[in-house]
Amino acid sequence: MYPETIDAIGITDVKQWTKPSRFSYTPQEFRDYDVDIEIEACGICGSDIHTVKCNWGDIYTPMAVGHEIVGKVVKIGPKAKAGLKLGDRVGVGAQCDACGTCARCCKHYENNCLNAVDTYYSAYPSGIKTQGGDASHIRVNSKFAFKIPDNISSEHAAPLMCGGITGVSPLFQNNVGKGSKVGVQGIGGIGHMTVLYAKAMGAEVTAISRSRSKEADSKKLAVDHYIATAEKGWEEKYKDTLDLIVITASSFSEGEFDKVLTLLTARGKIVFITAPPITESLKITPFSMLRSGYSVGGSVIGSPDDIDFLLEFTSKNNIKPWVETFDISEEGLGKAWEYVDSGKPRYRVTMVGYDKAFKK
Ligand SMILES: [Zn+2]
Ligand SMILES: [Zn+2]
Repeated sequence: MYPETIDAIGITDVKQWTKPSRFSYTPQEFRDYDVDIEIEACGICGSDIHTVKCNWGDIYTPMAVGHEIVGKVVKIGPKAKAGLKLGDRVGVGAQCDACGTCARCCKHYENNCLNAVDTYYSAYPSGIKTQGGDASHIRVNSKFAFKIPDNISSEHAAPLMCGGITGVSPLFQNNVGKGSKVGVQGIGGIGHMTVLYAKAMGAEVTAISRSRSKEADSKKLAVDHYIATAEKGWEEKYKDTLDLIVITASSFSEGEFDKVLTLLTARGKIVFITAPPITESLKITPFSMLRSGYSVGGSVIGSPDDIDFLLEFTSKNNIKPWVETFDISEEGLGKAWEYVDSGKPRYRVTMVGYDKAFKK
């Protein structure tokens, strides 16, 4: 029922990132707590594009990316996570393993584990390099496979596994609820999900974007206020109005930071969740933080507990990210990457059609 080798589509030549091709690989030895998953859908994350374009450095080849994976459990180890069984539909995000023994893991902050293993562009302690979800199957530590409620379709579940949890985790961590005032800077693949969930939690939501180009979509997402930072006078009009600002834009122009800070109420917090180019940095003037008691922080994906909670919350509130689908094939995946790279999707892309592509 499960393969000895896994078929994948990914980068075999770094000079041609829009032309992925087929390859197969042998996964690392099956451990007692692992699961094998037959993949049926996988979302495209901004990280996939950064990786295949080598924006974050050289990559090993061949490499399959994709870390918004949905599929069925086809093999399960005797010490797998309680509650998982053969045939379950599960999701896997950007993390496929953690040490499980460090102080961070013991606190259930597994996403902050210094020995965390990423689903692709990473290596297990054994040295075996990881391969992502643009493939027939994947083998992961069962702690990082999450059962998906029946009323969430696979194409909608996929983007929750990385983009969704990344954009929503700061809302959980900061106890956003009825009456909270949340700003979302960057209305895109992740930001549109941050807005959907903040609204579902009962918050008053302000979209912060450079121009008016996302205003119509933001209204459809039911934002309460819209700020276009390219226009004059916004900082005066909206100062002291937001408890939490989640920065989801992939690049942050330094000049605006001090102005955006003044949107916060006393003891307000700004959280960064996306990884800009490595060369980008922020200049903070401590003086501007003191009287208002502001904090600046970061957040990466989410812990297993947060991912389970996200899926339960999505199911109960019937939340659907905006998703477009592409059939997976060498050509289809290359086209989908180019499309995501163009910034045109509204707002996430999920690859489907795995049964045809991998002839199961
Ligand atoms: Zn991602
Ligand atoms: Zn750990």
